[in-house]
Amino acid sequence: MSLSIESRCIHLEGDDPAARYGAISFPIYQTATFAHPALGESTGYDYSRVQNPTRQQLEKTVAALEQGTDAVAFSTGMAAILAVMELFAPGDHIVTEADLYGGTPRLFHTVSEPRGITFTTVNFSDGTAQVAAAIHPETKALYIETPTNPMMRVTDIRKAAELAHAHGALLIVDNTFLSPYLQNPLTLGADIVVHSGTKYLSGHNDTLAGFAVVKDAALAARLREISKTIGANLAPFDAWLLLRGIQTLAVRMDRAEENAMALAQWLKTRPEVTRVIYPGLPEHPGHALMKQQARGFGAMLTFEVRDKREVPVLLKAVRLIRFAESLGGTESLLTYPITQTHADVPPEVLAANGLTDRILRLSVGIENINDLRTDLEQAFAAVQAAL
Ligand SMILES: *Cc1c(COP(=O)(O)O)cnc(C)c1O
Repeated sequence: MSLSIESRCIHLEGDDPAARYGAISFPIYQTATFAHPALGESTGYDYSRVQNPTRQQLEKTVAALEQGTDAVAFSTGMAAILAVMELFAPGDHIVTEADLYGGTPRLFHTVSEPRGITFTTVNFSDGTAQVAAAIHPETKALYIETPTNPMMRVTDIRKAAELAHAHGALLIVDNTFLSPYLQNPLTLGADIVVHSGTKYLSGHNDTLAGFAVVKDAALAARLREISKTIGANLAPFDAWLLLRGIQTLAVRMDRAEENAMALAQWLKTRPEVTRVIYPGLPEHPGHALMKQQARGFGAMLTFEVRDKREVPVLLKAVRLIRFAESLGGTESLLTYPITQTHADVPPEVLAANGLTDRILRLSVGIENINDLRTDLEQAFAAVQAAL
């Protein structure tokens, strides 16, 4: 029976060691090591850095959701991205999107560059000309997010994959913002999908996790070798939390997206807000493209206020919505990118991306929409009173 994505979030087809006892919740195999029946024999598990049944169940689930053949679970999103960077050697070159989660370029510049990997940063959403011009014979990968963080720029995944493959390079897509429920880059030609599982997959702001998902067997084998060797794996209990979070991925994403659309429309009517950037709005330049390559627009929205003096007042005044970095949880979180997620991005890159000191990012949660609106209304009233 072939299952739809909502059911795949909950039921994994295939062998299930828990089936023997009829357990509905997959067991947490809280063990570091596994005993062998005899010399040369194995239960299939040797040591939890290499593999653990709970983590394996999660990896199979995420691979199925992304329509890959294998997913490797890591302790954090950054650990997954680091492992992917270990696929490359000194002298290799990577073309990256300019507007990425701030920790990713920090990893590129402080860890990968000293190791001899070079990077060129371009705006992928402008079409392929800038990207094509940045590619040279040593280019081994293109690295994107779509929509980007926090400017919500949309890149054509199919075109990026064609361009990468024409030059023998890999396309790597960080799919954290939409989750596999709304977008599957591997089916559009991408070679590697990375996730911060901390966000929508976990969904509850209670654990960190990361994934690298692939469809090519050789790439999967190499990533497993790297994962086993560097040891930044996801612990069994955290793997179980992710399995539990993923069960409600579809309903959480649906509600959060509905709330985000309503808030984006409402924010446009507010005098305190000069710009709302949400790809679900028909005027967003990536709207039509996202309709083709994704099943929805997600629940991340960015807005700009009139005056940077409004920012501290607003961040202090919100009550239901919390001022925190991170995204993708049931709770709505408001982030100030230039001092939080993007604090280490050089000012010239921020300026080129249009990421100003008046920009706020809202991860819309699954609360009641009227409560969210009321909270922002009272926070805007505090802004009006203060300025
Ligand atoms: C949070 C995030 C990361 C990093 O993941 P961690 O789990 O925090 O290590 C990478 N990419 C994106 C898009 C993110 O939002």
